[in-house]
Amino acid sequence: MTKYFPTRLLVLASIIILLANCQDKEQIHQLVQNRTDEIFDSLVAVRRDIHQHPEMFFKEFRTSNLVAKYLESLGLEVHRNIGGTGVVAILHGTEERKTIAWRADMDAISSEFPDVVEFASKVEGVRHGCGHDVHTTIGLGMANVLSSIRHRLKGNVVFIFQPAEETPVVRVFSGAQAMIDDGLFNIVKPDELYATHISDFPVGKVSMYPGRFFAYLKPIIIRFNLDSDPEAIKKRIEDQLIKFNSPSIDLWEAMGDPKIGIFGDSTLFDDFVCSRVFEAEKDEQEYIIYGQLASSDPEQLIATSKQIKQVISNISDASNALEIEFGEDYYNHYNDPKLSNLSREFIRNLYGATAIMRPHGLVPGSGDDFSLLQENIPGGYYSIGGSNAKKGIISAPHSPNFAVDESAISYGVSYFSSLIIERLNSE
Ligand SMILES: [Zn+2]
Repeated sequence: MTKYFPTRLLVLASIIILLANCQDKEQIHQLVQNRTDEIFDSLVAVRRDIHQHPEMFFKEFRTSNLVAKYLESLGLEVHRNIGGTGVVAILHGTEERKTIAWRADMDAISSEFPDVVEFASKVEGVRHGCGHDVHTTIGLGMANVLSSIRHRLKGNVVFIFQPAEETPVVRVFSGAQAMIDDGLFNIVKPDELYATHISDFPVGKVSMYPGRFFAYLKPIIIRFNLDSDPEAIKKRIEDQLIKFNSPSIDLWEAMGDPKIGIFGDSTLFDDFVCSRVFEAEKDEQEYIIYGQLASSDPEQLIATSKQIKQVISNISDASNALEIEFGEDYYNHYNDPKLSNLSREFIRNLYGATAIMRPHGLVPGSGDDFSLLQENIPGGYYSIGGSNAKKGIISAPHSPNFAVDESAISYGVSYFSSLIIERLNSE
């Protein structure tokens, strides 16, 4: 009998430790939620300040200064002017075990869309029409929350505030690339790297898709003589490109449809090719029409681009087209499947199944240079819902009626702070 006694004691001790760990775990996430609630109003004020003073690529001087000062006030190790206006901040935990990084983008877009909020942009023609003011605020909120429990963090947290995400195709014109070229990864060496972007699904929900989230994309560039009629040529090209839409509806329009959209059970976004044509531009020597080809399958993309080239070449009215080319593929990122599943399950367990949206396909027509930061670091890119039908808020980035339910800030700060704690504590 007696020989079991120590074993029983051991089992009892293990159960007590296990319970204590569980309580500890619950307690730390409760602390995250409490702190998030405490600072929420101040974060809304920060977001509105950034929203009123939007700045475009590599000119984010005011925003960058605001970000750096906020992080310095929390006692973080702050590095300014990385890749232009980029800011890097390190929150040192109790051990040098692991480093988890979080990236937020700070830049605004050129836009004449109405900005129908009390705190509208004060800068003519510039808007936070892609929600980067919200991303920046979520990043600052996470820094605040995590620094309030830094004595409980078993590793370091790195915050990367990036300039110039809203850039076209060329690698040299990317805030992420500029930060890398300026030694970002000499300053910090993250083991994992995460980011988020506002999306048009309901507020309170997040989504991370294992693997790719955006479709394979190619820019189409058609140049032709100044003596041609650009509108007529554009119309002809549009008519031709429509033939390559599969199915024959505008997939971009269908994105938010609950049945056939990206989160619908009968989604059209699991196997598709689609194209669209943008405005024609005129410079001193030629007209240029920009378009875009998107596909869920890279081989389909290559095959269709060859067909499109042939069809456009055959348009008689466009016989004065000078050149048809396909630009460098857009940035795309890759969510590490294991980490995507782990982190999604973690958020589901902690915040409930309703916190998770499951996409069933790839989003056409988007990209993010986060992919450049991710090239050698596993992690992932979360979409976070910002829409609220009851309030008439639709958070489709770059759309004319884009707006964000600001409670997305609270959800983002608590979900992702908890996620970072979990990743720091993992093996
Ligand atoms: Zn964006």
